[in-house]
Amino acid sequence: MSVDSPLVCVGKVPFGKGVFATQDILAGTDLGEVQGKVIDDPDYSSPYCIDLGSRYSLEPRAPYRYLNHCCSPNCQLMTHETVCEDGTPGPREVRVEALIDISGDVELTIDYQWSATGAIRCLCGSQACRGWIVAEEELAAFLQSNTRQRRSRTLAK
Ligand SMILES: [Zn+2]
Repeated sequence: MSVDSPLVCVGKVPFGKGVFATQDILAGTDLGEVQGKVIDDPDYSSPYCIDLGSRYSLEPRAPYRYLNHCCSPNCQLMTHETVCEDGTPGPREVRVEALIDISGDVELTIDYQWSATGAIRCLCGSQACRGWIVAEEELAAFLQSNTRQRRSRTLAK
């Protein structure tokens, strides 16, 4: 599938750019691969990069560079393992899949599922908003450590 997938386009949202459906999309539709530059550096990080497992990161190109987070997303990233010629784990292939039926002109979102160390406040506005952009399974531990940190900062004064 080409980078300029006809199913989606990049559009404006209040705080930057987002990806929008250009037509009705059915749940389970494969919306194509997230293409971009594969970076072979375990310490690499950027606001848009996707962890590809092992030591790889992906710096995605448009349109999927602009997929925004929502705590009730309508899409998800599907990752597929790959193997290098020497048998070591290769960079995962990442594809976007529709989780629910999506109408044309609706913004596509995914759950970033960030680790607790990278969590930031979430403003997605969904009814199920967790308040933080952080993986659901790390939320409880994150909130606890967040409270602990605040407490230890107070004690340090
Ligand atoms: Zn949210």
